[in-house]
Amino acid sequence: MCGIAGIYSHNPVAPELYESVVHLQHRGTDAAGIMTYDDRMHKHKGLGLARDVFKQENISLLKGNIGISHNRYPTHGEFGHGEVQPVWTSVPYGIAIAHNGQIINYDELVSEVTNEGQRYLNTTSDTEVLLHILAEELRKNGNPNTSEEFFELLCKAVTTVFSKVRGAYSVTGIVIGKGLFAFRDPRGIRPLVKGERDNNGGTDYIFASENTMFYSMGYEPKGNVLPGELIYVDNDGKLFSKRLVKEEFNPCIFEYVYFARPDAVLNDVGVYRSRLRMGQNLAEAWKKKYPDVKPDIVIPAPSTANTSALAFAHEIGVRYSEGLYKNHFIGRTFIMPGQKERTRSVRHKLVPQDTEIRGKKVLIVDDSIVRGNTSREIVRMVKDVGAKEVYFVSACPPVKHPCYYGVDMPTYEELIVNSKNGSDERILPDILGVDILMYQEIEDLVEAVTRRGDHHIKNPCMACLDGHYVVNGRKVHDRVGIRV
Ligand code: SF4
Repeated sequence: MCGIAGIYSHNPVAPELYESVVHLQHRGTDAAGIMTYDDRMHKHKGLGLARDVFKQENISLLKGNIGISHNRYPTHGEFGHGEVQPVWTSVPYGIAIAHNGQIINYDELVSEVTNEGQRYLNTTSDTEVLLHILAEELRKNGNPNTSEEFFELLCKAVTTVFSKVRGAYSVTGIVIGKGLFAFRDPRGIRPLVKGERDNNGGTDYIFASENTMFYSMGYEPKGNVLPGELIYVDNDGKLFSKRLVKEEFNPCIFEYVYFARPDAVLNDVGVYRSRLRMGQNLAEAWKKKYPDVKPDIVIPAPSTANTSALAFAHEIGVRYSEGLYKNHFIGRTFIMPGQKERTRSVRHKLVPQDTEIRGKKVLIVDDSIVRGNTSREIVRMVKDVGAKEVYFVSACPPVKHPCYYGVDMPTYEELIVNSKNGSDERILPDILGVDILMYQEIEDLVEAVTRRGDHHIKNPCMACLDGHYVVNGRKVHDRVGIRV
């Protein structure tokens, strides 16, 4: 999962792209980058948090009113400077893109790009392959003079991308002298929202993974880039858009469970409200399943689960308590690449509050249980400070399958439900060290996301929960291999 943005402005764009990477920091802490253009490309990128990568002096060198940005969270490719986005090529025009998602037919596309296209790849990043497929289509198909002609050419090129590139991809891009573009894969797996603002009589445009920066930057939300849609804003601010293909809409349900910031509205569904409903549905299920078990306090595994825990506590009539204090200056554990780093950082990041926990029956609400190490560590910490009993509920159903669309759930073996004995759900409470473990049911999660709002989500992607991989639609029944 990454964060991307693209802005067309009537003012220098770099300061606002910087604000965008800060507001999308939760989507990836490994690296950040910005590219802009005036008469040539300007770029600055590096490893680490946005605040460490960018300084006042390099922001001021990023000239131009049009640009794109990227927050990196690695799902494909090695991890180093070369993989930091945006990526760019000088043939034709000078094109740069920022990509959120993951491409599943990478190997096949690499051979097409390197053999047929005779292009050299600098990295193992799937984004670079996507860039070259797009660039090659633009190079082959003409030399447009007007914006209308360029949009037509872009439509052709992106249609080819849609037919060749399988997987999840939301993209923002710039073309020197031509403008800004954005498109979203035909199933809309990864989010891409859009906004507009009046700027001295002209209109500025923004496209981003989430609308989390719109308010502070004065942009009005204008909905989503549709699945299979291409939007192009030319150098003079004229906007063109076309939905090039129409397939079933399968947005990632895990965005609502974990990834997106609670104040985001994705695919016309408010993330905060969906998490409240996850907590409500979970509480209803708890009351049915354990009518005689009442905890003394409900505490969230901070901080993604805060919203669901609040609703859960309210529904079962138990006090909500911030029994685990979170140090916000340490990165998200799920995003950290190594398991060792993840486990170690849990204790650095969370401190159990003795006065809230000692001698009590504690119910912990977490957003999800993926590898289980963070959950196990949290349970241990709560027990360390004298909890009498510990119950654990997950706002997400069991994560049973890897994700091949951009979230770091790479192998069956790493998922706790598939660990030795873990596949027997009766044993999981022992593995986690809790008295009761309860998961959200899949239908209750879907209900929580889709209950309200004027949206078009009928079949969200839930491949990591039910094994139904939406690209190609095949079902994975076992642990033998990837069949997507
Ligand atoms: Fe999201 Fe899971 Fe689908 Fe991956 S498999 S896109 S995490 S719902």
